[in-house]
Amino acid sequence: MNTTNTAEQKPLREVPFFKPSFDRAEEEAAIRVLHSGWLTTGKETLAFEQEFAAMVHSPYALSVNSASNGLMLAMEAFGVGQGTKILTSPYTFVSTATSALHLGGEAVYADISSDSYSIDPEKIEDKLKKDTTIKAIVPIHIAGNLCDMKAINTLAEKYHVAVIEDAAHAFPAETAAGYGGTLGDAGVFSFYATKTITTGEGGMVCVRNAEAAERIKLMRSHGINRTIWDRYTDKHASWQYDVVAEGYKCNLPDILSAIGRVQLQKAESFYRKRKAIAERFTAAFKPLDFFTVPPDGEGNAWHLYILRLVPETLSVGRDDFARALQEQGLGISVHFIPHFELTFLRERYGLRAQDFPNAAAHYARSISLPFWPDMSDADVQYVIDTVISTAQRFCR
Ligand SMILES: *Cc1c(COP(=O)(O)O)cnc(C)c1O
Repeated sequence: MNTTNTAEQKPLREVPFFKPSFDRAEEEAAIRVLHSGWLTTGKETLAFEQEFAAMVHSPYALSVNSASNGLMLAMEAFGVGQGTKILTSPYTFVSTATSALHLGGEAVYADISSDSYSIDPEKIEDKLKKDTTIKAIVPIHIAGNLCDMKAINTLAEKYHVAVIEDAAHAFPAETAAGYGGTLGDAGVFSFYATKTITTGEGGMVCVRNAEAAERIKLMRSHGINRTIWDRYTDKHASWQYDVVAEGYKCNLPDILSAIGRVQLQKAESFYRKRKAIAERFTAAFKPLDFFTVPPDGEGNAWHLYILRLVPETLSVGRDDFARALQEQGLGISVHFIPHFELTFLRERYGLRAQDFPNAAAHYARSISLPFWPDMSDADVQYVIDTVISTAQRFCR
């Protein structure tokens, strides 16, 4: 009998990829809103925006129903549309690029660095020099590890383009539109179900510029020049409004904002727990030749723990290795399937893996391990033991 084939057997332990951390506080917040009679965007959402803005030191925080739509609205506010482009990396979620397409714009791509998942500033300059229709750079802080924002901002200034941070992984890193202008023009955060804080679905766009904030507010609500809450609280002219632009529908309802306000208060404690787990993983994996541990720059929010395999040390590739982990009960994922692997984007832009050697190499080696703040010690230890014994089993 092949004892290493555990596919038919029940694993010793099941450790899911992610579990959101909730308690009575989120339940009570949601119920309070249900009982209030006001479910859509109102005073809970305004409070959530103010509290979020204070936390990231941004003058403006505009809530949205997803980071994907937040990216679209930020791009629109900074001039992306027909005949213009964003510059991003192929190593990200699909919506970083499709947000520009929805506006009639285009995406152009630069590869990531060889030692991190971040867009390579040197490759950015090449593209900016050649293409004056680029309106914004969209760097992604993959797994919460910040891009080289200093280098990116310097280039953005030189070539007069905006910087819109895809900060979906970066809360509560010190990023996005705050901090005395050292970071981007806009930072877009996600509260999707598996992100560092969650409202189920939702997001926040932070900007420094008042005009951009006004534009995003207008466009997230049908191009209507008054908010529904404003109309509700003004008893004299509640029905009157005008439509002044071709807007969208991207507002975050109060029931979700109320949950978000509670999650916000816990963000720092979630972060500390994730960081401690990441440190345990790194201490276990770093000494072994099989693995490259994730980059951990200053301000890392530790959203994901992406372990890279060292192919020369192993007799199997990432896919087989990942399957072996799954068979032993580990919920794993791969971040990200690069855009040149996605049929629509590959065909739309004629993308080829060989043009993005670093992204292709990272993708071929990466596995995101189970990682969430309330993982038990036993869960963490099981992940470590399983990953190491699997590598030893496949040792070349
Ligand atoms: C999750 C994610 C998004 C999209 O967030 P939604 O809130 O689900 O729209 C965008 N970019 C990256 C890098 C993400 O991980």
